Amino acid sequence: MARYTGAVCRICRREGMKLFLKGDRCYTGKCAIDRRNYAPGQHGAAKKKLSNYGLQLREKQKAKRLYGVLESQFRTYYEKADRLRGITGENLLKLLEMRLDNVVFRSGYGDSRKEARQLVTHGHFLVNGKKVDIPSYQVSVNDVITVKEKSRQTELFKAFAENPKTLPTWLSANPENYEARVIAEPSRADIQVPVNETLIVELYSK
Ligand code: SF4
Repeated sequence: MARYTGAVCRICRREGMKLFLKGDRCYTGKCAIDRRNYAPGQHGAAKKKLSNYGLQLREKQKAKRLYGVLESQFRTYYEKADRLRGITGENLLKLLEMRLDNVVFRSGYGDSRKEARQLVTHGHFLVNGKKVDIPSYQVSVNDVITVKEKSRQTELFKAFAENPKTLPTWLSANPENYEARVIAEPSRADIQVPVNETLIVELYSK
């Protein structure tokens, strides 16, 4: 299963904003954006005006990296989004948002999508009672995501249950039962990511 293994904070520095990819560290003074808010590399500090293409490319890279998806998989999401009814850009974000690793993250398990992805690959979750350890698994409305019985006994999961996160409106949760349910598809307003999906569509439509 391919994934990005480079330095994570470089991604935020490249995009010029906090993408909160490292969980707790992002809220401390150790955040690279707080310390060096310029692009990585020898000429990173030089101000550059981006072309239209550059802006579109950056937006695509940002979305890809926020959700931890590699290039070919991202393009596949775009092609699928384009075939669906509705607005392609919004469809794209919906597909990304309904990946199992993202749903696990949104449900309060893991400080970052990266950690949530690891929890999924380690087999801690069931979808509708069946073990699913594929981070890209696409959840559907009415799916119920639960933590495996054995995993509930671990300190990590007890801590998640004791400190529930505020959930987006399209999810409901029962932290005591280690359960989250998808009650609706997320609308664009529910997907609070700093991405201009229209630019991504423009890039791929060329
Ligand atoms: Fe981004 Fe978090 Fe690193 Fe800050 S600490 S640069 S928000 S990943």
